[in-house]
Amino acid sequence: MRAEIISTGTELLLGKTLNTNVFYLTSQLTGLGLEVNYHTTVGDNKERLIETVRQAFNRSEMVFLTGGLGPTADDLTKEIIAMGLGLKMSFNPESMTSIVNYYDNKDKLPPSSEKQAFFPEGAEVLPNDLGTAPGAIIEKDGKYCVVLPGPPAEMKLMFERYALPKIQALLGNNTLRLFVRTIKVFGLGESELEQEISDLMHKSLPFITLLDKHTYIDLRVTVRSSNEDLARKILDQTEAVIRGRLGNKVFGIDEETHSQVIGKLLRQKKLTLATAESCTGGLLGGRITAEAGSSDYYLGGAVSYANSAKLKLLGVNSEHLSRYGAVSEVTAKEMAEGIRLALGADLGLSTTGIAGPGGGTKDKPVGLVYIALAHSQGVIIERKQFAGNRDSIRNMTVETALNILRIFLLQNPL
Ligand code: AMP
Ligand code: MG
Repeated sequence: MRAEIISTGTELLLGKTLNTNVFYLTSQLTGLGLEVNYHTTVGDNKERLIETVRQAFNRSEMVFLTGGLGPTADDLTKEIIAMGLGLKMSFNPESMTSIVNYYDNKDKLPPSSEKQAFFPEGAEVLPNDLGTAPGAIIEKDGKYCVVLPGPPAEMKLMFERYALPKIQALLGNNTLRLFVRTIKVFGLGESELEQEISDLMHKSLPFITLLDKHTYIDLRVTVRSSNEDLARKILDQTEAVIRGRLGNKVFGIDEETHSQVIGKLLRQKKLTLATAESCTGGLLGGRITAEAGSSDYYLGGAVSYANSAKLKLLGVNSEHLSRYGAVSEVTAKEMAEGIRLALGADLGLSTTGIAGPGGGTKDKPVGLVYIALAHSQGVIIERKQFAGNRDSIRNMTVETALNILRIFLLQNPL
């Protein structure tokens, strides 16, 4: 069934309010198997709203609208729908009672609130358990319009509690549903990845798209089907083929993060980790500890930003430091070994680099980063040259350090 979402509110067009409603609703609706074909954002303007509602009804079977249900003059949604669909407005006494009951002190009931109890004729009212503005589902000629409030918390609760069961009932059991598997890939650019799987792409079953997430790529595999077992089988087969081609460049599935994956591996192997960070200034430790229960494997770390901190906290060799500099293979190695020793960890992971924008030289340009991983049998050191601004260089460093650790844990039977 074709659906679309109309977000109303001038604030959305002024860059003042982030349109989180459309993001939430799209994900809900596609999960129900609806085909969301359009997102439209319109200000609180009568003519433009009527035109948008008419256009939406011409091309979609289900139209979702958010915002404009308040009592004030700029809240126009229900009247607009009535005008757009050629329906009269009618008073709903039950809704009026709920609105009155919402106010403990009846003196506070605004005179304009009666307006909120008027709906296009035939509308099914959706109660608002968090505010006074009720929503509605309106049917016209076999097509549906679902009207929800603007405030995100009210919209979400009304959708989940009252709209969703009705939509599910309307859709029945035989509708197509969308099944999605996200395969997370690290270490390949978008076009390199596309080349690896070009024969699988641009088919409609399964449908594969690539989303560049800056530090990694999401490979989204989708199947639209009314048969869940069949859909899951296709997703499993496709995942197996992709894993076969990309090997351990696949670091996770769906919502999995790099830090979750390394946490799982460290826990399985009963290994502990410590970090020594220069250019990432604690971001790496922050990412690792974002996982609940990371104290099972993460001992801690040092934010050794200045040379003096590298000497004092990690025991980096001062002669080496002045000879090779802070951003060098030697320093990265000594930092990783130093923190491993200092905290008595199985593994020490370090980062040192030039995040910019200043501080780069011809030999050591902005974006040059060394990452080292010290373990019981030696040290792995990688030299990387990242592009982008300070934020992206630091984020790429964190992601790459986690990746080096992940590959090591997968390849070494420690
Ligand atoms: P309304 O129902 O039009 O009175 O909306 C009230 C408030 O809800 C607005 O001031 C916004 O802060 C918020 N809001 C409205 N539409 C959206 C949206 N699409 N996404 C996020 N917040 C919204
Ligand atoms: Mg509004």
